[in-house]
Amino acid sequence: MSQQETHGFQTEVKQLLHLMIHSLYSNKEIFLRELVSNAADAADKLRYNALTNDALYEGDGDLRVRISADKEKGTVTIADNGIGMTRDGVIEHLGTIAKSGTADFFKSLSGDESKDSQLIGQFGVGFYSSFIVAKKVEVKTRAAGHNADEGVHWVSEGEGEFTVDNINIENRGTEIILHLRDDEKEFADDFRLRSIITKYSDHISVPVEMFEAGTPESEGEDGEKIPATEGSWKSMNKATALWTRSKSDITDEEYNEFYKHISNDYADPLLKAHNRVEGKQEYTSLLYIPAKAPWDMFNRDAKQGLKLFVQRVFVMDDAEQFMPSYLRFVKGLIDSNDLPLNVSREILQDNKVTTALRSGVTKRVLGMLEKLAKNDEEKYQTFWAEFGQVLKEGPAEDFANREKIAGLLRFASTHTDSAAPTVSLDAYLERMKEGQDKIYYIVADSYEAAANSPHIELLRKKGIEVLLMSERIDEWLVNHLTEFKEKKLHSVTRGDLELGELEDKEEKEEAEKLASESESLVKRIKDALGDKVSDVKVTTRLTDTPACVVTGEGDMSTQMIKLMEAAGQ
Ligand code: ADP
Ligand code: MG
Repeated sequence: MSQQETHGFQTEVKQLLHLMIHSLYSNKEIFLRELVSNAADAADKLRYNALTNDALYEGDGDLRVRISADKEKGTVTIADNGIGMTRDGVIEHLGTIAKSGTADFFKSLSGDESKDSQLIGQFGVGFYSSFIVAKKVEVKTRAAGHNADEGVHWVSEGEGEFTVDNINIENRGTEIILHLRDDEKEFADDFRLRSIITKYSDHISVPVEMFEAGTPESEGEDGEKIPATEGSWKSMNKATALWTRSKSDITDEEYNEFYKHISNDYADPLLKAHNRVEGKQEYTSLLYIPAKAPWDMFNRDAKQGLKLFVQRVFVMDDAEQFMPSYLRFVKGLIDSNDLPLNVSREILQDNKVTTALRSGVTKRVLGMLEKLAKNDEEKYQTFWAEFGQVLKEGPAEDFANREKIAGLLRFASTHTDSAAPTVSLDAYLERMKEGQDKIYYIVADSYEAAANSPHIELLRKKGIEVLLMSERIDEWLVNHLTEFKEKKLHSVTRGDLELGELEDKEEKEEAEKLASESESLVKRIKDALGDKVSDVKVTTRLTDTPACVVTGEGDMSTQMIKLMEAAGQ
């Protein structure tokens, strides 16, 4: 009895398929990278599950991926003996996109195909990239530990729907058969496939194999018989976990390809750090900073964290316990020798090893950024433009590293008189005037509002630098970053500028004189404003503007009030 069913793709999958087919044509061969990447993930998952259930191997523990082509039929087949999928798994994984925020992502696309194709690259097209080159895709899969008659046959032409049926499959794993479009038949060629695999798969930790034909019986030069050889599957890649190899024999290309495999990103990373740590904790970390912020960096439910391996065995994706939230843009993996293989998210939550590793990799990332800031200001600016806003969450989140994080921050300032955030707190300290003991800043709604604020007139006149802040997160930042290298950060909108020694004596006397002369004026204004203000004062702080509103010393700043209002408080 046939159990065939037809299903519609989730709306977002339809949109993805449409966009992909029309905009990723310039880099078609990536489909192979995606499918090999999935096959390698399936091997990782099987290995992990088999730790507690050896029977899942069904007597075949040599995990591998096999790629073959049929020129006549115009097909390319990618077969693995990994974990496989059940019928429900197939319908879910190959019919929907399981990333939170996906619908929002598609709403945000502009309709401009070249722009959108950039975004799609960051979003990650995965399995669906098969349809870049295939007019029809078949998947035959059987989950490890299930019966042969629980095999599933999935077929789709990528146009809105797919069918699933049950079939018999003896061997566990997944086979993906691409029926190439007429103008993509060039991919059904061993030589072509081989060159793509060597380019993309060297870092893959299972063998990626192709069949090498045998040779027929032949005759040697002096007439002796050379026997026929049988063909066999040969591995095209090194098939050792990249991070276990020594740094000196890993090329940049290999590091970059590995990054793409674990991150779903299509572009090369901005930075990487690969380290083996020995001593109290033994672990290897391979960390990357992307060149571009991911589309879902500010989506609360977005997956984040590192891939976790324990003694080379893949354990889980998105282990968020190893990276503080303000470094959530970091991609990579950690391979620990100290955690138990059967570690769960719950165990990680409250674990000494986790805490030590987290602190180790956090320091590593901050160190990598410090080095970049020191050695390559331009590249650091690229980083800052993408991730600065997230890093600004750091001082509130990570008390222990507050000063280190603060040193990485960049601001606009009256010194450069430009909206570009290029000024570090260290640079500010170096330029402080004699007698100045505070770091002055202003937070406003926009750069223009900050730069033209009456609050900074006097400081400008005195040549004292003011940091000009205008991002939403800035108020939050300065609430938690109250000093840097023993210098207080001081808002110029606060009641008193506390210029201290910067105020000269004459000015002080003049101010006092002014105050006594203006007493009756001040009283009149106070009476007129009544309850609307708590005080009215004469000031020497303004040079061009007649009056301004300031907040009292203990009060919430006007920006903070706006933030709270926006948060519905
Ligand atoms: P991702 O790999 O980022 O999860 P993909 O679109 O590449 O996204 O794959 C979607 C899902 O389909 C995978 O997460 C996995 O559950 C399933 N899948 C794809 N290929 C295979 C395979 N060869 N073996 C087992 N499961 C697979
Ligand atoms: Mg994938």
